[in-house]
Amino acid sequence: MNALRRQVSLVLGHPALSIAVLLALWFVPASADRATVQLLSFVMINILLAQSINLLTGIAGQISLGHAGFFAIGAYGSAVLTKSAGLPVILAVPCAVALAALAGWLLAIPAGRVKEFYLAMMTAGFGLLTYEVLKEWTDVTGGVMGLSAVASPTLKNLVVLGVRLEALDYFRVLLVATAVVLWLLRNFVQSMHGRAFFAIQASEIAAGSIGIQPGGTKRRAYAISTAIAGLAGAFYAHLVGYLGPDSFTIQRSVEVLVMAIVGGIGTIVGPILGAMLFSWLPEKLQAFAAWQFMVYGLILMGVFLLFRKGFAGAIAEPARFVPARALRDVLAAQGSAGAATGSPGASAGTTASSASAATAPSTVTTTAADLDASPIVEVRDLTKRFAGLVALDGVSLALRPGRITALIGPNGSGKSTLVNVVSGIYTPSAGQVTLRGRDIGGRSNPEVAAAGLVRTFQDPRLVPSFTVRENVMLGAHLKHRGSMLAAALRTPAMMREERETIARAGEIMAIAGLTAVADQLLESLPYGYRRLAEVARALMADPEVLMLDEPAAGLSEGELGRLAEVIRWVRGRGKAVLLIEHHMDFVADLVDDVVVLDSGRVIYRGDMQGMRRDTAVIEAYLGVQTPRTADA
Ligand code: ADP
Ligand code: MG
Repeated sequence: MNALRRQVSLVLGHPALSIAVLLALWFVPASADRATVQLLSFVMINILLAQSINLLTGIAGQISLGHAGFFAIGAYGSAVLTKSAGLPVILAVPCAVALAALAGWLLAIPAGRVKEFYLAMMTAGFGLLTYEVLKEWTDVTGGVMGLSAVASPTLKNLVVLGVRLEALDYFRVLLVATAVVLWLLRNFVQSMHGRAFFAIQASEIAAGSIGIQPGGTKRRAYAISTAIAGLAGAFYAHLVGYLGPDSFTIQRSVEVLVMAIVGGIGTIVGPILGAMLFSWLPEKLQAFAAWQFMVYGLILMGVFLLFRKGFAGAIAEPARFVPARALRDVLAAQGSAGAATGSPGASAGTTASSASAATAPSTVTTTAADLDASPIVEVRDLTKRFAGLVALDGVSLALRPGRITALIGPNGSGKSTLVNVVSGIYTPSAGQVTLRGRDIGGRSNPEVAAAGLVRTFQDPRLVPSFTVRENVMLGAHLKHRGSMLAAALRTPAMMREERETIARAGEIMAIAGLTAVADQLLESLPYGYRRLAEVARALMADPEVLMLDEPAAGLSEGELGRLAEVIRWVRGRGKAVLLIEHHMDFVADLVDDVVVLDSGRVIYRGDMQGMRRDTAVIEAYLGVQTPRTADA
């Protein structure tokens, strides 16, 4: 079954199939009747709409129940601009698209602050509002009577650049436009920008920790998505020649969403299948007359019971989020450069050991000179209160380059809170945090990441539907320079960046022992791999300071060894590491400095041996195992 799905994926992903379908759709309808050409035109419009919601909801994770509103802005926009303002269609359509994009960008400002039900309600509100405006703003929209005689092939008054377009010509324009949008979207999704959308969907906090700005990313997702919905609307207006408010109800918004979900959201193929099905199904269902909507509902329920990932998920493996050509090039170059022979497992082993051998010189223990290195991070008198609870109480500590500092303390002593405040997830109640002398206290999570401090989470936060490689590549977000347009056009510069990221991710995965599972979906892997993948993702950002919140929790013996090696490798590169840990054995021969927290206060600062002898530490932390002395 899985082998079959893989075959189907290969066929679906093959450029030859796309070209064949495109050619067939260009030539075949020439001999078809008007109704068929009209139906095919509707399929194209539905594909655009389904992709629009797919980008926002399936990829960026922002549900919208108001997409009919953006569809309407595109449709009325182009109709009004051509009819009332006398703009030529070729200018009116891009203007309408820009209008829809602007509306989406503006909606994202309030909508970006809310999630789930609230977001669903807010977008539904936008849809209802637009519908009311269409009905009430009679002067412009024609109110309930709508707008008629919009330039269209049906009315034989659609003239573009001096050429009168017939229904078949118009369909061909739609076909090419849809193909171009699909191509741009495919490129975009397989780029750092598309991957960032997924990162936002999986966890805004985790995305922020590697420098992805949630607010800006969501505004971009809204604007691109609503631009596509606007384009679908403009095409719709000039297809049918008449617009009335009833084509833009909330029902339409729901239909668009359902179309994408049934087809398979989060993929490019899925919404195409959904759009095809939903353009064709209503006609077929007319045979059931009064039962039409019941049959429709039953089909929907059945689909969701049978295929949770929609039709696309049932028939094919999901497409990946890395340009296939770039990946092939990099792997081929590595294969010819290294002595990668034998099974994938064996070659993974050699790569890993050669990588660790290469880093061996850097694992030498620190010298006295390092002790004098001035701190890169300084925390002074940091306090964090949560409604009456003092989680951090005047904590001071310093992290130096090339040194590993353990942060130890019982559960609830404030270790995670410290990392959360320093990395910008919580704002400090009092005190200072500086990074290379720059004040970063109170900065946002992505700003702190951009300044060079990256952290991992006590509960690993990755993109479950990504492979390990894709997750690790996310860490390079701050290193990328390419614009969204460059990503959509897949410029040579963008591809070069992708190849560099793939190559670097390969090196880091080798050090972290992830090479053998690089192309497995994260959600299919045991816990230990996820932890290591999160650490690898953080390393991709090449931070000056790395903070690891209990990275060893839940790791096997072998994985612990791997993790220790990774941490030493980071130290060897002159980075500062803060390591939160419970396992004394794991920390003992790894760390240079130790800070012990108890109830939000630093109770010890020094080295490991000293800590083991310190009475305050013994009492607070190790006390359970050590008999109290009479004078303690
Ligand atoms: P540790 O990581 O050392 O186990 P934490 O830093 O997670 O401890 O927690 C320290 C204290 O702060 C605990 O009492 C915890 O309940 C409290 N705390 C942590 N985060 C929050 C929060 N977001 N809201 C309220 N209390 C919190
Ligand atoms: Mg914790």
